Amino acid sequence: MTTQTETREALLVQRLIRETCRRAHDTPVLEVKIAAAKCAGLDEGLVRFYWDRYAADTVCQGAHITYRRVPFIQECPYCGYTFASRKQNVPCPRCRAGHTATLMGDDCAIVEDLTLAA
Ligand SMILES: [Zn+2]
Repeated sequence: MTTQTETREALLVQRLIRETCRRAHDTPVLEVKIAAAKCAGLDEGLVRFYWDRYAADTVCQGAHITYRRVPFIQECPYCGYTFASRKQNVPCPRCRAGHTATLMGDDCAIVEDLTLAA
């Protein structure tokens, strides 16, 4: 395992936590569903490790992580929606645009869903 690999997961987790905190506002997060594309080559153990580290003192602290590996992560160029997909270039489920782009590299993981404390 190289330092570079750890840095990728660390940066990715920091981005996902920022996004989760923004979506949760000030409500504690109970569960976070993360989808990661195969091409990202992420180490699930490292994602969880860094989550615990960087979530401390945020609304994400102690959240249960559901992590799943998916074939692709698509992004809609029209409405910006990101979603997990089995195929590339599928229509956008939100705005029905005909084409979506496949995210590559370090952008290949998204927060699919959040469960917030009532
Ligand atoms: Zn769209």
